[in-house]
Amino acid sequence: MITPAVLISASGTMILSTSTRLGRVVDRVRSLSDRFQQLADSGSTAEFFEEQRAMLYDQLDKLTSRSRLLQRALTTFYLAVGVFVATSVAIGVVAFSGARGAWIPVATGLIGACFLFYGSMLLVFEARLALSTTHAEMDFIWRTTKRFARRNWPSNTRRITCTLGRKVMIDGLARSEPSYLRLLQAGELRRRVEALEALLERCTVCPRDCLNNRLNDEIAACYSGRLPIVSSYTPHFGEEPPLTGTRGAGNIFFGNCNLRCVYCQNYQISQTHKEQIRNEVTHERLAEMMLELQARGCHNINFVSPTHFAPQMTRAILIAAERGLRLPIVLQHQRVRFSRSTKVPRGHRRCLLA
Ligand code: SF4
Repeated sequence: MITPAVLISASGTMILSTSTRLGRVVDRVRSLSDRFQQLADSGSTAEFFEEQRAMLYDQLDKLTSRSRLLQRALTTFYLAVGVFVATSVAIGVVAFSGARGAWIPVATGLIGACFLFYGSMLLVFEARLALSTTHAEMDFIWRTTKRFARRNWPSNTRRITCTLGRKVMIDGLARSEPSYLRLLQAGELRRRVEALEALLERCTVCPRDCLNNRLNDEIAACYSGRLPIVSSYTPHFGEEPPLTGTRGAGNIFFGNCNLRCVYCQNYQISQTHKEQIRNEVTHERLAEMMLELQARGCHNINFVSPTHFAPQMTRAILIAAERGLRLPIVLQHQRVRFSRSTKVPRGHRRCLLA
């Protein structure tokens, strides 16, 4: 039989995860109740009013059932812990009493295991309910967005099936002309690139405001100097389906980062500046990478973690656009990371989102 200590530890883990889950459900119930209340007070006659109300009602109903299941599971796990502790005590008592009543710890251990099993089954039901709640909400969002979006989709939009089995549009957007081409023709793109590059002299490219001269390769928090660092570039199929389409997103992964997120999934390229310095490339080479990805059929150029290289990136876009780049540009960054770009003189900001 498994030692009570292991089962106590297992029950403790279940208690922790179940109480976290319960907390989330309660928060969600509160936020949905507020939405429901607002909807009722608004007296709206909007197109989706009834549908939205029905969806919220259904969600609240399911969330209530989930919270009851979680509460019951939590109680069961607490009981299991209590019984397993009693089993440990019983083992000690039996050892002292010369093995009389040896069946007692076996019986309490089995009772505790039954509690643990019952609690786990409750969690299985709760997980199924959570899944159906998510599906119902996704279906609602899909129905409503479809009705709105259809009116604005370009006529040449082609839809593909994404991993959720949903149709998503892609080619219509890909065929519309990127705004950086208009800026290029007007001479505005070059002006914006120069304005961004000026930030490198006393670096205020990101909110860290290091004030180091990156044009002289002075290094500060992001360990990045004058030239861009590209860890790798490739057609990528692991992004969101609307980006990858059928021929992949043209990913360009920049090396280093201005943040130190402890959960960074790109740690190998974001926090290893001594290795990344070997991946320094010229602006021209970065432009060539974009053109290469375009020639390989990618749907877009998808820059990953570009914040600390915003000026270098826009310089390379300028060069590539002059040499025939026509793909839309996608930036993968957290919104907060680009807040420094608001210091770019007015009228110079949009090039970051070309
Ligand atoms: S981009 Fe780098 S050097 Fe510039 S302010 Fe941010 S962290 Fe500092």
